[in-house]
Amino acid sequence: MAESIHVPLASLLSAKEHPHAFSTPSRTEPVRAGDPAAPVPEFSGGGTFFIETFGCQMNEHDSEKVVGVLLRRGYRQVASPDQARLVFYNTCSIREKAAQKVFSRLGEFNPKNNFGRDSGKVIGVLGCVAQQEGEEIFERAPWVSLVCGSASYRELPLLLARLEAGENRVTGLETDTDETFETELTRRNHPFRAYLTIIEGCDKACSYCVVPYTRGPERSRASESILREVRELADVGYTEIQLLGQTVNSYRDPSNRHLSFAELLLAVAEVPGIRRVRFMTSHPRDMGADIVAAIDSSPALCDHVHLPVQSGSTRVLRAMQRTYTREEYLEKISLIRGARKPISITTDFIVGFPGETERDFEETLSLMELAQFDSAFSFQYSPRPHTPAALMADPVPEAEKQRRLQVLQERQRAIQLQRNQALAGQVFEVLVEGASRRETQWTGRTSSNRSLNFTSSRTDLLGKYVRVRVTGAGPNSLTGNESIE
Ligand code: SAM
Ligand code: SF4
Repeated sequence: MAESIHVPLASLLSAKEHPHAFSTPSRTEPVRAGDPAAPVPEFSGGGTFFIETFGCQMNEHDSEKVVGVLLRRGYRQVASPDQARLVFYNTCSIREKAAQKVFSRLGEFNPKNNFGRDSGKVIGVLGCVAQQEGEEIFERAPWVSLVCGSASYRELPLLLARLEAGENRVTGLETDTDETFETELTRRNHPFRAYLTIIEGCDKACSYCVVPYTRGPERSRASESILREVRELADVGYTEIQLLGQTVNSYRDPSNRHLSFAELLLAVAEVPGIRRVRFMTSHPRDMGADIVAAIDSSPALCDHVHLPVQSGSTRVLRAMQRTYTREEYLEKISLIRGARKPISITTDFIVGFPGETERDFEETLSLMELAQFDSAFSFQYSPRPHTPAALMADPVPEAEKQRRLQVLQERQRAIQLQRNQALAGQVFEVLVEGASRRETQWTGRTSSNRSLNFTSSRTDLLGKYVRVRVTGAGPNSLTGNESIE
């Protein structure tokens, strides 16, 4: 049975090593990272590990599962790389800047660098950069011992065993798999919201995107296994579940039950103890009326859909291979806005895609006005290896990309401010996620995923659901007071 634990890091640090910790005979010879011939450092039953995660919620959740695998093998998590024998970076390569970050981290361990942290550590690169760069990582950073993409995480216990047995370079780089990464133990970081991946990889082929290459083909997890984990999460006190997938609404139940995504949402929402169910990210093409009807019919399904549009120009959408037109996207917006519940809609934009003209950009701005998004993530286009768009002619100059991004973000900010201000006087239920030092100021999220900072004279509200009346609004958050009606 899968086990899920949530424990504060402090108690993990003092946790006893797992009784079944793997143990190798101790080695006495000094080991230097960076020497390919050197044996890996000793893994005395339950060594220490540090993991840093870059990128999206799926990466965050993958790391929670990787931590579970490591704890199961008897390793103990520590708070800094200096304290760790095993140092893992779970990486993101969606944009170039994100990918560069990991190489600067790895540089800190370069044995040639006098100020480096070389001390016989085992360095591992996981996730999208691992998949994208593969064994070339060993060329760029010969002190790395493990390179493993997310589609091979099922192999992690085996790869760890090989490191423990003395190998100093192991890789997991297969993407041709129909397996999902299910673990016996997941060490969740968030105290109240549990992330749960229901579909891995991606079968879409957006021309700018590295994900199909780095995460492999789409694989859905069986509904019964998902529901079992949700019941276990509810049993240990989680009330909010966030279902994850690059295209979460493309979910196809591989089991005999053949639940549709909307049916799965309803089944998760019915698990006793679960009060909120979120999901992300939805692909516009697979956003059907049944999903909106499900949100309408179940109080536990949150009033929020994240529906990345990327561009408001059909010409650019076609070049991006997004498989919908501007008009089709706007129809999806009408469908969601037509719901009985006031469902908030958030999105992603890319500006400066190759060949994007000023007119195309104006169409993006006009779609933004029509759709009235409640929030948006926006990015300058970044060419990625292995993607068709990287070879496209007519790149938009950097300065122009920057200008477009700034214009778009200013307009979106104004829309958000206006939409948030219109909520003044209304009462929302929030899940309390944080407190200020004074303990009269709290922060939480509404079902529509708005951040709401509020005052309450009550204590001990963390993790509770509280009704709050909105008294003020900014572009990114609301303020209010606890409502005691
Ligand atoms: N699967 C989601 C979808 O279909 O929209 C998004 C996944 S991606 C991790 C998150 C966002 O990163 C995308 O929606 C897109 O806006 C942005 N993105 C992806 N590739 C990009 C690139 N090459 N340059 C800039 N932004 C990019
Ligand atoms: Fe990337 Fe497109 Fe798949 Fe989203 S749907 S992960 S943007 S290829």
